[in-house]
Amino acid sequence: MIQLGGARSGHAVGGRAKARRRGAVPAPDIGSGAGSGGGFPTGSGAGGSGSGGGSGGGAGGGGHGPTASRRLLARLRDIMAGSGSAQERLDKIVRMIAAEMVAEVCSCYVMRPGEVLELFATIGLNPDAVHRTRLQVGQGLVGEVAATARAQVIANAPQHPKFVYRPETGEDPYQSFMGVPILRGGKVRGVLVIQNQQRRTYSEEEVETLLTIAMVVAELVAARGPSGPDQAGGIDANEGMMPARIEGVTLNPGLAMGTAVPHRPQLTIRQMVAEDADVEHSRLRDALAAMHSSIDHLVAVTEARGDPESRDILETYRMFAEDRGWLNRINEAISTGLTAEASVQRVQNDMRARMAHMTDPYLRERINDFEDLANRLLLHLSGKTSVASSGTLPEAIVLVARSLGPADLLDYDQEKLVAVVLEDGSSASHVAILARALGLPMVARCADVMQIVEPFDQIIVDGDNAQVFVRPAEDVQDLFAQTLALRAERAKEYAGLIDKPALSRDGVCVSLQINAGLMVDLAHLHEVGADGVGLFRTEIPFMVRSSYPDVEAQTDLYTDVFDRADGKLVSFRTLDIGGDKALPYFPHDDRENPALGWRAIRIGLDRPAMLRQQIRALVGAARGRPFRLMFPMVAHCGEFDAARKLAVMECERARRRGQPVSAYMEIGVMLEVPALIWQLDDLLARADFVSIGSNDLMQYLFAADRGNPHMATRYDALCAPMIDVLEGLAARAAAAGVPISVCGEMAGRPLDAMVLVALGFRTLSMSSGSVGPVKAMIRSLDVAALRAYLETIRRLPGQGLREKLRSYARDSKIAI
Ligand code: PEP
Ligand code: MG
Repeated sequence: MIQLGGARSGHAVGGRAKARRRGAVPAPDIGSGAGSGGGFPTGSGAGGSGSGGGSGGGAGGGGHGPTASRRLLARLRDIMAGSGSAQERLDKIVRMIAAEMVAEVCSCYVMRPGEVLELFATIGLNPDAVHRTRLQVGQGLVGEVAATARAQVIANAPQHPKFVYRPETGEDPYQSFMGVPILRGGKVRGVLVIQNQQRRTYSEEEVETLLTIAMVVAELVAARGPSGPDQAGGIDANEGMMPARIEGVTLNPGLAMGTAVPHRPQLTIRQMVAEDADVEHSRLRDALAAMHSSIDHLVAVTEARGDPESRDILETYRMFAEDRGWLNRINEAISTGLTAEASVQRVQNDMRARMAHMTDPYLRERINDFEDLANRLLLHLSGKTSVASSGTLPEAIVLVARSLGPADLLDYDQEKLVAVVLEDGSSASHVAILARALGLPMVARCADVMQIVEPFDQIIVDGDNAQVFVRPAEDVQDLFAQTLALRAERAKEYAGLIDKPALSRDGVCVSLQINAGLMVDLAHLHEVGADGVGLFRTEIPFMVRSSYPDVEAQTDLYTDVFDRADGKLVSFRTLDIGGDKALPYFPHDDRENPALGWRAIRIGLDRPAMLRQQIRALVGAARGRPFRLMFPMVAHCGEFDAARKLAVMECERARRRGQPVSAYMEIGVMLEVPALIWQLDDLLARADFVSIGSNDLMQYLFAADRGNPHMATRYDALCAPMIDVLEGLAARAAAAGVPISVCGEMAGRPLDAMVLVALGFRTLSMSSGSVGPVKAMIRSLDVAALRAYLETIRRLPGQGLREKLRSYARDSKIAI
């Protein structure tokens, strides 16, 4: 059996250890670690260079348990609901906090346009400094709280390297400092600070209390217009009406035009402070029950639709909905005096604040799932229905969201959805996998898109070029309408090529295969007339599940793949997890360079039982049918030998048991790590075939992160070094009689594929949508002529050859 238990909690422990090393007060954890594996660190966590843990000490301190917190919140509610301008109420609030928390100073800084924190109210500092003292985000201790969106607790503030002395405030006598961010809608709207003359360490309870107060104050600070501090946290109202182009990262290519539907599940919470905690606990229970049954309903719908990936994703999501750590945190917040809605939001704020500093893709994505759940829970608490089910939605919906959970996406009418735009998001997210399964263009990491987009704006999503046009001018709309029409026409042309070979004008035949990972891809295999699956990414079915599939479950899964491939050859790549592909139930490496870390075959060889189980399932599912097996991220021949040995052992095991073993089972290697280039003779003597993963090969050759948008166009695959490498590989594999193919993204781009064919590649594997365009290109290509042209330009100085090759293709009437 594979030892998977405790993977999550192990990770959470690691997170805490890290926080302690940095001198932070331990972050309040969400999880009891029970049930579905809680232990997600979600508290906002007090950071900073506090002088260690421990509570009390010095002035005031203790007494901030639930009762004190409830009393404080009740007083806060009275002030908030009372008369007076926002400024007057804020003044009262800082006085009240200082008195209740036994602090000599309490100040409220509000975020103004331009990332400036302005002192808006204070008791204890010089009142003349109000509206005069301004700090940039990141400047001083207050700026540090805003920059990190985390609480800072500092016992000796003037000695702190970040301390900035502002003479007009007269804050020099104050030694102790506690600052917490005022968060609303995932953004820092200001900073709330208390200070004491004596050195003291504020307790964790006090940090929690101030964070809770800050959340309530956020309602006042972020309110715009006459009742709130003017412009606080606001945006220029006119900015929203201008056309805008936003660059992002493509999570699923494609082009779509439609009407923006901002997915803004955040509801305005009318009542923050509870009258009766018992009533709130019971409201939470009812809302949770309603939410669970609505998720069950979604699972049943996807089940009925025969969509295995969506069903698996929802089941994982359902598991999160039962996470005890998350639920405990909400219940605890209710016990401090907040309403159920405010408690859900409080926990959500904490998660967002933590997420802003999280680089771990797995945790970021799971926190997104929790955010989705929190939004659902708020809807159920409010008794409202979601936007998705409102009857007034436009015909072609471009869904725009900060982040999106899988259930959110499935809530919308699939017939009407044409694209998705996210402010956040990563390719490993569940929602990205779903978008691929549903064929929706998706662009993520579009900065401030939720602020820029207004409901019912026209919007163009250009997933092919990672850009989004909001309220495009008429000429841009016309241009895209023409492009869409042209694409529709081309699609018809490509459909006419399905039964025709990818044969060049001078008689070179190329085998075109598809890259797959979802069951829906296998339907495309036949629709586009590809010869086989050149790369089946086995980690994708693993990524959508809630638990590790045992041999039987894997066998079922691969049997489905073999059946759907219907006799066409499939190249199964063994698990390529690690890097940005994390499994919910497998411990993963969260070191700084995940792409260079413990991933793919490195994990497989360190966990041979896991690799053997996968091969066993493949051999079992094949039931004698031919297939190919290939290993990812091999860096030296020894790794290939070791992996191949495991495969051979599994075949022998099957034979011993009288099970059918494929007579045709080739064992090959992905060439992604440049070190293999210098071991090529040895490798070609061992491997049955080689498949070049040009995505990773480019990443490692140029030391350029493939997921970083700033690197996306910096280095071009059509350049002399890459062409030399590829040409050498094709020639040496051909000389050794070993089949070689390319399965990275470049194989699916017609211009790049044109060059690959000229360099000698005769098998290319790509996403199914690229098969038509690449086939059309090959059928209009004279390979020998291109080869001759390439010789004339490949040594010219300059970075890339793309433009010259594009002109050549245009002049030679090659369909690119
Ligand atoms: C590649 O690296 O080119 C490849 C095909 O593998 P993946 O994109 O899955 O890493
Ligand atoms: Mg790869």
